Amino acid sequence: MPDRATEAPFVHGSAIVHERARVGRGTRVWAFAQIREDASVGAECNVGKGVYIGAGVVVGDRCKMENNASLFEGLTVENDVFVGPHVVFTNDRSPRATNPDGSLQTAADWTLGRTTVRRGASIGAGAVVLPDREIGRHALVAAGAVVTRDVPPHAVVIGNPGRIAGYICACGRGRTSDFRPDPDGVQRCERCRLSPD
Ligand SMILES: [Zn+2]
Repeated sequence: MPDRATEAPFVHGSAIVHERARVGRGTRVWAFAQIREDASVGAECNVGKGVYIGAGVVVGDRCKMENNASLFEGLTVENDVFVGPHVVFTNDRSPRATNPDGSLQTAADWTLGRTTVRRGASIGAGAVVLPDREIGRHALVAAGAVVTRDVPPHAVVIGNPGRIAGYICACGRGRTSDFRPDPDGVQRCERCRLSPD
């Protein structure tokens, strides 16, 4: 099998990739996606149809961004992260189109929220992440959840407002009830034998 990490990036003819954006080796950018100025997408990523990656957003290696996900400015995504279709990462806690005097809001009139998604986390289809949140490594945000608080590592968050429903292994199958202590006292996932840490 050819090593994808050595391939030049593929960018579909209808995608818009700013000349100051960086796209890593082996990454595929599909139809109508947009990658804005100074954004960085790592190696071997999949940028699905209609995905928006805002100015200065940083995405690590081997991330999957499914169709129409919106990764607005202020976001950092570490390696091995799954972003489902139609996920929205917001960045403005007090969104207004105009100021009270009717003047248009400019960049000086609002504060950019900054969110980080840690290594190996997954965000399900249609989830919304409010500004200034951290989603811990290997956490799982369920489809349609609204993330209003930080998510600890390995936590499963469901609903609106999002609440912790349990914990999940890096393998994505083992749940809290599958974690058992070994004779040596180390908690391990019954499904993959990994320690959930
Ligand atoms: Zn496991």
